[in-house]
Amino acid sequence: MQHTGIKTWAGRLGRKILDTLYPRICLACGSRVKSDDAQFVCPACLEKIIFIGDSGCRKCGAKVGPGAEDNTRCLACRDSTLIFRRCRAVGMYDGPLRELIICFKFRGNQLAGIDLGRWLIERQGGEAGGTLPDAIVPVPLHRLRKKERGFDQAEFLARHVSGKAGVWLENMLERIRDTEPQTSLPPTRRLKNVKGAFALKRDAKIVGKRILLVDDVMTTGATLAECSRVLKAAGAADIECLVLARTTYV
Ligand SMILES: [Zn+2]
Ligand SMILES: [Zn+2]
Repeated sequence: MQHTGIKTWAGRLGRKILDTLYPRICLACGSRVKSDDAQFVCPACLEKIIFIGDSGCRKCGAKVGPGAEDNTRCLACRDSTLIFRRCRAVGMYDGPLRELIICFKFRGNQLAGIDLGRWLIERQGGEAGGTLPDAIVPVPLHRLRKKERGFDQAEFLARHVSGKAGVWLENMLERIRDTEPQTSLPPTRRLKNVKGAFALKRDAKIVGKRILLVDDVMTTGATLAECSRVLKAAGAADIECLVLARTTYV
């Protein structure tokens, strides 16, 4: 009994020393986080994140506004031509979630990537025990962009999902054209911007497979739709998408 008490006390002291020597900072707002906290974002920021999960549109994963009568499909998706079956999103691209994604994607902070990767599994919604896909495929960066950034954020996230779900990650796609960032373009030009930008790798085995396509952010869905078109044309049986964040509030 006494030993347990000493251990707990020593553990607390150890964490206090760690907190002093290596203060942990919330990656979204910069405030201090206790070292025994499991995540890299402070409780106040966590509270501010608008998680979507199961409450999103059944087609595009967007947060459905409070005025909507049912949450099966958002208004934009009533006559949507998006080719994938559905997309799930962890949360809204706003506030601390947006900060964390920027920290991970543009500043290469992989600690942020660890929290984000975990949420991608834990907060995506979906039925427990639902069927697993046959392969997890990340939306690829162009090789020049990857070289410049030093890593591929969608691949990092997809690897995390693959490890947790026990499903192979298969880099079947490559970006053959270095497109302009979708966020810099008006929605009407986004489809054209990514048209023909992706190709299937020569050794990809895809016929009859159910694919989970992973990316960091979905805006209009043009990139995911174009990747889905390539995968479907090559014989994929089903495509579901999973992203960290959706930008629109429908
Ligand atoms: Zn914070
Ligand atoms: Zn929708």
